[in-house]
Amino acid sequence: MSLLRLEGVSKRFGAATALDALDLEVREGEFLALLGGSGSGKSTLLRVVAGFERAEAGRVLLRGQDITRAPPQARDVAMMFQSYALFPHLSVFENIAYGLRRRGEDPRPRVAELVALLGLDGLERRRPHQLSGGQAQRVALARALARRPALVLLDEPLAALDANLRERTGFELRRIQRATGAGFVMVTHDQAEALALADRVAVLDAGRIAQLAPPRELYERPATRAVARFLGSANLLDGPGGGFALRPERIRLAAQGRPATVEEVAFRGADALLVARLADGTALRVLLPAAGALPAPGAAISLAWEAADLVPLPA
Ligand code: ADP
Ligand code: MG
Repeated sequence: MSLLRLEGVSKRFGAATALDALDLEVREGEFLALLGGSGSGKSTLLRVVAGFERAEAGRVLLRGQDITRAPPQARDVAMMFQSYALFPHLSVFENIAYGLRRRGEDPRPRVAELVALLGLDGLERRRPHQLSGGQAQRVALARALARRPALVLLDEPLAALDANLRERTGFELRRIQRATGAGFVMVTHDQAEALALADRVAVLDAGRIAQLAPPRELYERPATRAVARFLGSANLLDGPGGGFALRPERIRLAAQGRPATVEEVAFRGADALLVARLADGTALRVLLPAAGALPAPGAAISLAWEAADLVPLPA
């Protein structure tokens, strides 16, 4: 049985359609990334599942049970907000304990477990304003996990962290998801983050799921132009039917290839990004190893790729 099912869920705000007859399935124990641009409806989807927004049409099922009209506290679902939304006047301990106390439970054993799981030892008496960004993020996660929800919704949980911390915290999120066995739905607008962490990635486009697939499949076989464009900034080439996607890293400099002129060169440390224009006017993004000599803007080069690297796209 699936953990979560959305069937034909629609949500409008005035004239704007945030979710458009959307279908989605999350499996038991799965780490699913929900990937989409700003305003694509990611937060709205989480809020509908958590019960903070009411869908106008469609159904939300948790382990087969219809929760479409259930109030938030009656759902076996926890949400970690993008802003963390910690209670500023409560200590770390009381923030984590909040939901347990409301249920009339002695919070001490569970809070101790979560403090250990998330490495929060020694911070129990602090207030939120006395925490670093990374610590506040872990407290918010501990609070979401406290009642052992079947499903944890995380709205851009890494967005507020700096780059170094983001990578480490991402791996930690995965470890914690595995340790708890709960299903995680993590919203992100960062395609690398989604591909790196998730079992499957759902791409949200115009209020619908454009594709739901494991990271490698999504990257190598995008189902639509929107997915191809969103993942890895693929080049989109004209062709029969809907054309082709060609990944920047599949293009190489070759003695015998298609003539092109270099327009931009960006050295990025591990690699270099080139923008080159073919004779027919098509601009290509090309990813080259940075170790070799790089052509300069204005240089005439020749580019090649394998026919097998062209991914057919529907119109
Ligand atoms: P995302 O999280 O992907 O950036 P949102 O779910 O926040 O997107 O928003 C999706 C669309 O719904 C946007 O067009 C947004 O402006 C609109 N929207 C979201 N919440 C509200 C609201 N409370 N009132 C009006 N419009 C909203
Ligand atoms: Mg959002």
